Amino acid sequence: MDTFTQWLMLVVAIGVGWVLGYSASKKTSTGGDSELPSNLKDRLKVLFETYSEEVIDSFVQSLEVNADTVGMHLSIGSHFRKSGEVEKAILVHQNLMSRPEVPKNFSDEVMFELARDYMAAGLLDRAESLFLKLKESKLFGQKSLRWLVDIYQQEREWNKAIEYGVAFNAYKGVDISAMLAHFSCEIAQTLIDQHHYWDARNKLREALGFDRSCVRATLLLAKIHMIEGHYSEAVVILRKVEGQNYRFVSEVIPLLFECSQKLNTERKFRRYLEGILAKQSSSSVMLGVADSFNRDQGAAKAVDFLAESLLKKSSLRGLDRLIDYQRASAESDSDIRHLTIVKQVTQSLLEGKPVYQCEGCGFAGEVLHWQCPSCKAWGTVMPIQGVEGE
Ligand SMILES: [Zn+2]
Repeated sequence: MDTFTQWLMLVVAIGVGWVLGYSASKKTSTGGDSELPSNLKDRLKVLFETYSEEVIDSFVQSLEVNADTVGMHLSIGSHFRKSGEVEKAILVHQNLMSRPEVPKNFSDEVMFELARDYMAAGLLDRAESLFLKLKESKLFGQKSLRWLVDIYQQEREWNKAIEYGVAFNAYKGVDISAMLAHFSCEIAQTLIDQHHYWDARNKLREALGFDRSCVRATLLLAKIHMIEGHYSEAVVILRKVEGQNYRFVSEVIPLLFECSQKLNTERKFRRYLEGILAKQSSSSVMLGVADSFNRDQGAAKAVDFLAESLLKKSSLRGLDRLIDYQRASAESDSDIRHLTIVKQVTQSLLEGKPVYQCEGCGFAGEVLHWQCPSCKAWGTVMPIQGVEGE
């Protein structure tokens, strides 16, 4: 808060505090000043915490509206909204909206503040109509477009969210293309559910036009090819994920595995995973290669591979799988018993462990959400790295 605003708030607070004190003293004719708050701090507290809507209303009605006082009205209104007293903020801003004497250069700001009050109150329809009026405003157009994107996102009106998101991006500054790509993916997912694969594909191309590194769009494109039985094309598309964001390679492995089974290309699949492993460590890729060795050359080869890999990178999931393969090939009863005990330990360590985490707010879970359920950010939930994760 700058010095001027602080000063302004103080003047406002003193003024309204005096009105409170005056009206209270009139109401309590026998009590006198002893019943009033004893110091200014208490008065300010009373003013902003306990004022009734009637008193706020009469105060803002009584305060003249002109170029000098409109800033004061706006400050009072935004103070109430920030304090969570949205109804009082709406009263202040609605009063300004109804006054023809509000100087023209303030009218957009008044409307914008009222729209924000409506947002805070959850009155999305009212907020929407005001932000729509402001979308061409020189000072509030860009901000209003951003709020419109938020409104349509909450209402899952993805086409409108994209339309106003594109208009927002036309301004310099913050770019929300990565978020718009997710909106296109939301539409594509609905189209896939309805078996409209042609239209879904177009929406996914639109998503990749917004954000070339949109892993979600690539995965959905590959899934459409797989639904249609085009496994070779799906493999080509799935291999692009590594370059888009290597942290999502773990999401690709089950799909690539399915394709390799359909195409009978086990070795090609394994060679691709080994190529990734040579560049970066990943528990999922390690397990993918081990399982492939097991299918192709037997458990002993899978054990050799896992043992060697675990020396290079510690992985709880890798150790757990190693125990599985060793137990399957163990010959003595005591070996099986010992391995069963160790398996119990790794299982209890892995049980309920989150696999994904939001980089924005830290929300963790076992399911990949493209929009974080906690902070609502798009594309911030990632596979967890480290000994217990990827
Ligand atoms: Zn989050």
